[in-house]
Amino acid sequence: MPKNQPPDRSQGRAKRVEREGNDMVASGANASERVVLIVEDERDLSDLLEYNLRSSGYRTICAHTGSDGLAKARAHGPDLVLLDLMLPELPGTEVAKQIRADKTIGQVPIIMLTAKGDEVDQVVGLAVGADDYVTKPFSMKVLLARIDAVFRRSQQGRRTSEQVLRLGGVALDLETHEATLEGETIPFTLTEFRLLSALIEADGKVLSRTKLMSHAMGPGVTVTERTIDVHITSIRRKMGRWGRQIKTVRGVGYRAVHELAPA
Ligand code: CA
Repeated sequence: MPKNQPPDRSQGRAKRVEREGNDMVASGANASERVVLIVEDERDLSDLLEYNLRSSGYRTICAHTGSDGLAKARAHGPDLVLLDLMLPELPGTEVAKQIRADKTIGQVPIIMLTAKGDEVDQVVGLAVGADDYVTKPFSMKVLLARIDAVFRRSQQGRRTSEQVLRLGGVALDLETHEATLEGETIPFTLTEFRLLSALIEADGKVLSRTKLMSHAMGPGVTVTERTIDVHITSIRRKMGRWGRQIKTVRGVGYRAVHELAPA
C-alpha cells in the first residue's frame, strides 16, 4: 500500500485532542493533526480502519453505535467522519443529519460506508449531507484516496470562499481561471469554464440554453442550442464522476446540483 500522506498542512489547523476516559486518540508514527472519527459497529472493520488510518498518519477515534458516534463527534470535533450506514441505536443517516444540524461541527466532511444491497439507498445517505460514499467491501487504498480527496476539497473550499466555485470534487478558481478535479487540473476551454461557472453560480436553478449562451459567449453572440449541448457533454466528461451533478432539464436547459448523485 502506498504511503498516503495527508495533503498540505499549511492550513495549520492546530487541533488539540483531549483524552477522555477510554477514548484514546492515538496516532501513528507520522502523526498529522487530522482526526478521523470512525463510526462502525463491525469491530473487525473498525479495527482495520483504525489500523490503516493510523499507519497513514491520521489520528483516530472509534465509536460503535450511532449515538456514541454523534456524541464523540460533538465532543472531539473531528476533521472527518467515516460513517457506517447501518448502525445500532441511531442509523448513519440520522447521525449525519444531526451532525449537519450542529452549528459547531456541521461543516465536518462525512464519508458514508454503505453495504452493497443495503435496503437504504445510497442516495438517502447523500441527501443528508454526506460528502462521499464508499461501498463495502472496499479496498483500504481506495478509501484512503477518497479521504485524501475529501480533505483536499474541503481545504480548497476553506482557502478561497468566494473566488472559487465548487461542485463536488470540481473547483473553478475565478481569479486564475484554473479548474481542478480533486486537485488535478481540468483542461476546460474558456467557454466550458464560463458555462460551468454560470451553472454553479445559479445554485441549483435551471438555466435555459439561451441564458447559458449569453453567459458563455457574451450577449449578441448566437450559437445553436445544439452547440451548448455539445459543450455540456464535454464538461461532464471532463468532470469525471462529478459530471452527473449537471442535470438536463428536458425542454428547459441545465442545472447543477450539489447533492452527490448515485453511481
Ligand atoms: Ca453496520
